Amino acid sequence: MDYGMAIGIGGCVSDTSLLRLIPKVDVLLSSPALDDVCSRFPYEQVREYARDYLEVLRKNVLTGKMASVPSVDEIAADILDGLDLGENYSLRRVINATGIVLHTNLGRAPLGEEVSRHVAEVAAGYSNLEYDLADGNRGSRYSHVERLLCKLSGAESAMVVNNNASAVLLVLDTLCRNKKVAISRGELVEIGGSFRVPDIMERGGAELLEVGTTNKTHPYDYERALGQGAEALLKVHASNFVMKGFTESVSAGDLAKMAHQHGAIAIFDAGSATLFPSELLGIPEAVDVRAAIRDGVDLACFSGDKLLGSAQAGIILGRKGLVDRLKRNPLSRALRIDKLSLAALEGTLQLCLTPKEAISRVPTLRMLAMSREDCADRAKLLLDAISSEGQGVDARLQDVEDEAGGGSLPGVTLPGCAVSLGAGDLGARGLERRLRQSAVPIVSRVHDGRVLLSARTIAEDEISLIASAVILAMTESPGNGWQGGGGYVTSQRGHINSQQ
Ligand SMILES: *Cc1c(COP(=O)(O)O)cnc(C)c1O
Repeated sequence: MDYGMAIGIGGCVSDTSLLRLIPKVDVLLSSPALDDVCSRFPYEQVREYARDYLEVLRKNVLTGKMASVPSVDEIAADILDGLDLGENYSLRRVINATGIVLHTNLGRAPLGEEVSRHVAEVAAGYSNLEYDLADGNRGSRYSHVERLLCKLSGAESAMVVNNNASAVLLVLDTLCRNKKVAISRGELVEIGGSFRVPDIMERGGAELLEVGTTNKTHPYDYERALGQGAEALLKVHASNFVMKGFTESVSAGDLAKMAHQHGAIAIFDAGSATLFPSELLGIPEAVDVRAAIRDGVDLACFSGDKLLGSAQAGIILGRKGLVDRLKRNPLSRALRIDKLSLAALEGTLQLCLTPKEAISRVPTLRMLAMSREDCADRAKLLLDAISSEGQGVDARLQDVEDEAGGGSLPGVTLPGCAVSLGAGDLGARGLERRLRQSAVPIVSRVHDGRVLLSARTIAEDEISLIASAVILAMTESPGNGWQGGGGYVTSQRGHINSQQ
């Protein structure tokens, strides 16, 4: 990089003599101060990280954000902190303070303790993924969850694939290729990204028969399609929007009855579903997929990492003959589920055998089930932690409306509670950015010029970490190149992000 040029272009006033105080990466790495770091982490990893670090340091000096250069010892400490915190990784843990439980951009469902432990164990060693320990022969990866899924849902058979989009594709490709499939015009939806139901039906080779209208679809609309030779009726749950007013749709159960009268099958993409009565969660709007199976739907599929609260997976339940055909489709090999997701799924499903246990141990369910009072209690703990660490900080409790998110319960708001922070000169956007650049990044919301930290999605053991990060972010002066987080590596790297 040509610093002279950079200064010229940027037009920033900076002290170029400071630049000379920044060590070269090889000089830094050969300094005894880094012996400790180099003995703990692979050399190339330290080198890459140190190079990034020095690069940001240079940028900050050039843009006048930094008035002095840290000593080699300080740099060594920062690098050690940074590597300890996993800052060398691109994919990292963050704290979700948005109050959106299944945040699609933040990895949807977090796993609970016992499930994470099971995943770690399977990950770290060999496993009987496709090995039958009883007879010493090849086994099936589906066997680890199939029995559990059948028991929990009442379905005859089950299989799992990579995600629910894969599940829908596999079902259509196997059962609907070159066949007429009827779907309500109100359900030709886009789920997110580029997953659009009509497109995926085309990919699956199905001939689309649109029935009904956007707002109303009646049983006779499907009857007509069946009369025109539809061999499957597809129902897609409206996961990410609500229709209000003059609307009508046909239930999965009624769809199944009509289909069966004409020798057709009924398929239900439930999107996000639970495997126990949704009232237990306090959210009656949630789809209880058991009901669809009980009412005769031939195949139902849903995501593993939405309301089920497990890993990314597509769960398919239904009649044995149909599921067997899915398993035989060569496409299933391309869409197959990974062993780590399978371990997470088995762990979560075992908890679901006792719904009460599931609600207390599956983080997604626990957070969804939190009452406003539970949220207020947690927010109060955070407020107290912040107030005790920093005097005179502008922080108070505020009622908020949280969401399930992740295309799960559109239109359902969950009354919650947040710690609301006034950011002063820094501005709410500035504070929000600094929190995002903390040692463990905190993702928050800005509302009415204040930063909101919603208690629902914050774990109790994250409270003191958040309090320290908040104090650090609020008390450093705004003009100064911000030195926050566990050291200042974090904020340095944050500056890279915010500049690019
Ligand atoms: C979320 C969703 C999908 C996609 O599921 P993924 O597990 O994200 O692949 C498909 N259909 C519906 C109705 C959904 O809500």
